[in-house]
Amino acid sequence: MIQEITPKVFHNEFANITEPPAETDVIFAFQGRFLLCRQEEDGKMVFPSVEDFRPWLTREREEKAPSGELLRYLFCIDDTRYYLYRGDTNGYAPETEEALAGFSFEKLFTLRTGYPQDVCFAAITAYHLYAWYRDNTFCGRCGGRMKHSETERAACCPSCGNIVYPRINPAVIIGLTDGDSIVMTRYAGRETKGNALIAGFCEIGETAEETVKREVMEEVGLEVEDIRYYKSQPWGFELDLLMGFFCKVKGSRDIHMDERELSSAKWIKREDITSDPNGISLTSEMIHHFHVHPEEFA
Ligand SMILES: [Zn+2]
Repeated sequence: MIQEITPKVFHNEFANITEPPAETDVIFAFQGRFLLCRQEEDGKMVFPSVEDFRPWLTREREEKAPSGELLRYLFCIDDTRYYLYRGDTNGYAPETEEALAGFSFEKLFTLRTGYPQDVCFAAITAYHLYAWYRDNTFCGRCGGRMKHSETERAACCPSCGNIVYPRINPAVIIGLTDGDSIVMTRYAGRETKGNALIAGFCEIGETAEETVKREVMEEVGLEVEDIRYYKSQPWGFELDLLMGFFCKVKGSRDIHMDERELSSAKWIKREDITSDPNGISLTSEMIHHFHVHPEEFA
């Protein structure tokens, strides 16, 4: 999965780093769901270093930046520090920005086919933080301008005292099985075209296990039993924390698909599955796990 970068180590502890970044530190800049990068022919992802970024790091820009800073320290992986470019407007790199030589704004989705994995994980995690910083420029309670806490990752409102911590959306991925078969789905109207599993967001007031039961009923009209937790995954693409569960169908296995959410939902036999042992998503790992561990699903 994308976050599995051993032996490298991801350090996301809060640090109020104020000294200037080193020339070799890496900067992520976003325009909505596009990020500044270069993908080489073999799939390697390259992001601008502080040295590459010098033309944009001017005092004039810093004075105009509404957040009072052009760069914000995010986290490090081993000794590489990663920064977010905050831009001239609310966290955006301006649309009119002249191109940074050798880089262009590409779809976030590019990260799903790129390497090295630790750098792609850093980029998508930076996207999650970028979206949070951007969306908390102003206080949602009183409309005042938020400030960054100097002691923790939090946006604080000096006017009303509101404190906003990074927001993570919990969601479940569900491997619904019946002996040697698993339900595979395809989503209607999404970028992801491949096979997926049933999935959905936790609603306020329910447990993750209750989300599993509700989503299976809503998406394919089936009841479940024997719900077992598998693993979790931070998924910055959608600002999520994904929690994977396997469960068994209870009673009828006749699918009644929700056509607003899905374009297809079918029972697929183990022998008809092709799975990827090195997939970056929890979904692909769960499909692979079902494929190669028949003894767990007898
Ligand atoms: Zn406020």
